[in-house]
Amino acid sequence: TREIRLASRPVGRPTAENFRLAESPLPALGDGQVMVKNLFISVDPYMRGRMNDVKSYSPPFELDEALDGGAVGEVIASRSAALKEGDVVVHSLGWREYAVLDAEAVKPARTDLAPAPAFLGALGMTGLTAYAGLLKVAEFKPGDAVFVSGAAGAVGSLVGQIAKAMGASRVIGSAGSPAKVARLLDLGFDAAFDYHDGPVRDQLEQAAGSAGIDVYFDNVGGEHLEAALSVLNIGGRVAMCGAIAQYNATEPSPAPRNLALAIGKQLTLRGFLVGGQRQHSAEFAGKMAGWLADGTVRYDETIVDGLENAPQAFMDLLDGANTGKMLVRL
Ligand code: NDP
Repeated sequence: TREIRLASRPVGRPTAENFRLAESPLPALGDGQVMVKNLFISVDPYMRGRMNDVKSYSPPFELDEALDGGAVGEVIASRSAALKEGDVVVHSLGWREYAVLDAEAVKPARTDLAPAPAFLGALGMTGLTAYAGLLKVAEFKPGDAVFVSGAAGAVGSLVGQIAKAMGASRVIGSAGSPAKVARLLDLGFDAAFDYHDGPVRDQLEQAAGSAGIDVYFDNVGGEHLEAALSVLNIGGRVAMCGAIAQYNATEPSPAPRNLALAIGKQLTLRGFLVGGQRQHSAEFAGKMAGWLADGTVRYDETIVDGLENAPQAFMDLLDGANTGKMLVRL
């Protein structure tokens, strides 16, 4: 099978030289296993952290071995009673064309609810991150004013729409281009701004007005978090989901410089991993399927063709080339 390997560890921004397209033989199909032909693979910001040789919540990628990550594919051979040829499944051996896995390591995708790639986005981990992060981690309640950064991305665009659907008083998003800002307004955000247009704090203050914000869903960290801390109301909550502004950084981020505001404002800042929110999977899947069916929630995808273009898709994701979920179609 053709696969993408980590050729060297990036320092700062990844480059094409950090990746290599290679070929390796597929293992024989054992008892209880399935062979899957990948249809779509996911590239995700957290993979940047796994390219460094540091211990973290998920182990570093090995040099000169295939990368891994979310994928959706079709079963093309099965030695498991649970799965048959033609079944569409989600699994974690992405970055390659074919995978052999234990049947327990794949999850059937309900393609009657949505097309296959949605199970890497709105109906998959991305959707659960948005849902659980907003409702369980930030403890959103109707009437809250919500700010989400990275708002035109996969997680952020769902956070804003879920907040609207659940009765937010106001939803504000920040993103990196005028086209993304326009898209957010189209998706029902009450206000949106391009963080390149001026200090985040000034733009957020203006968008929030005197009502302030009660919840900040943080995908970005740094200056965005500092701005949110300054605009949050007393008792406000922050779901710390990601800090993409510093994933390529080679120096620690100086912001937020105003963390002590959390004391007087009695804020709650709570970090989370989607892996720790799996107990909400069934509730999430039911809700999201309904919202997609009735059009309450819409999702965008940016699709790049060809396994050989997966490294570029990943690099482009970090640079903001995507609107909604970044995917590679094989
Ligand atoms: P996105 O679809 O949001 O893609 C990443 C986006 O980040 C880009 O499109 C870009 O958009 C934005 N970005 C890049 N650099 C910067 C910067 N310096 N400042 C502000 N924005 C920047 O990815 P996901 O939706 O998959 O992930 C969003 C966040 O959620 C990430 O931080 C990720 O690590 C985190 N995450 C955390 C999980 C968890 O379990 N805690 C699970 C899944 C995701 P723009 O054009 O707007 O700059």
